[in-house]
Amino acid sequence: MPFSKLGLSKPLLQAIKELGYKKPTPIQTQAIPVILAGKDLVATSQTGTGKTAAFVLPLLEKLNKERTLRGKRIRALILTPTRELSVQVEANVALYSKHLKLTSMAVYGGVDTEPQKQRLIEGVDILVATPGRLLDLAHQRAVHFDELEVLVLDEADRMIDMGFTDELYKILDRLPPHRQNLLFSATITDSVRELAYDFSDSKVSEPA
Ligand code: AMP
Repeated sequence: MPFSKLGLSKPLLQAIKELGYKKPTPIQTQAIPVILAGKDLVATSQTGTGKTAAFVLPLLEKLNKERTLRGKRIRALILTPTRELSVQVEANVALYSKHLKLTSMAVYGGVDTEPQKQRLIEGVDILVATPGRLLDLAHQRAVHFDELEVLVLDEADRMIDMGFTDELYKILDRLPPHRQNLLFSATITDSVRELAYDFSDSKVSEPA
């Protein structure tokens, strides 16, 4: 199936073309329509499969389409286990959104918080973050989640392995209940399944 059949609009198809991607990878073919339909998703995928574009492309499509009068608050949050991955994912967001008017940034620990806080005040649509630094910024009231539409947990198994579970639940406590949840993980263990369950609000629609 070509990219043009997946429900992505021109600015994104143009960016994909400029990057030289010929056709979607299997995870992209499977995930993009589901995410565009607004559903929660739990997906297994290794690095190198094109999983970043599998969630970033539909996320950008949705934020661009549903664009109204924008506040300065974040609309999509992507959590990653490491600084390197945050930087890499944000670089992908910037590449794919080059023909859109959406802003993104990465925040991570080990560097001064002030420049990050300054950028957040200016307004960012898509924030890519490591859990510890994000909580830090939230405690300092530098980041607000009340306009959050989409949450992505990238490499969820690694976040658990690295001991971020407590931080993830503390972040969860601060998020608005109605949002789309996307979880990507190389392996689906019991703890990943539990996290996916707790992060998904689809369970509220289950009969009591
Ligand atoms: P990831 O699995 O997200 O780490 O992506 C691995 C690499 O594949 C990245 O360098 C992407 O730029 C590239 N990539 C993603 N989707 C495609 C595609 N459909 N065709 C060719 N390359 C791709």
